[in-house]
Amino acid sequence: MIGQCLCGSVQFEAHIAPEKITVCHCSMCRKWGGGPSLTLELTDHLKVIGEKSIAKYASSEWAARYFCKQCGTNLYYKLNERDYYSLNAELFDLPEQAKIDLEIYTDHKPAYYPFLSSAPQMTEQDVIDLFSSEN
Ligand SMILES: [Zn+2]
Ligand SMILES: [Zn+2]
Repeated sequence: MIGQCLCGSVQFEAHIAPEKITVCHCSMCRKWGGGPSLTLELTDHLKVIGEKSIAKYASSEWAARYFCKQCGTNLYYKLNERDYYSLNAELFDLPEQAKIDLEIYTDHKPAYYPFLSSAPQMTEQDVIDLFSSEN
């Protein structure tokens, strides 16, 4: 699927499954994006045009958040140690079948915004448990 940032300096060709959008309600995603993040995991290859317009912020010891230097669009979150990319779903012109598949950090969602999805929900502890069982 083809995607780009707001100004078009950074363009992507990415293998993603648009029916598997993850919503994250954690405070870092909300501060970064001004609301809950809607992301898609890269399933295969990623081709980037305009790499020199990408800057990164090391948001934790294990991952960084990448953004467009020209327009500030959030591009993706990537783990340092492996090729795990969580791309901003809104970079892409999502097709009709796009769907929210999972909501995470639901225990961090503030009460002031409603979020109506029927997707499975995971708290911070659920995410940590899943992450540690994968190692
Ligand atoms: Zn841009
Ligand atoms: Zn988050």
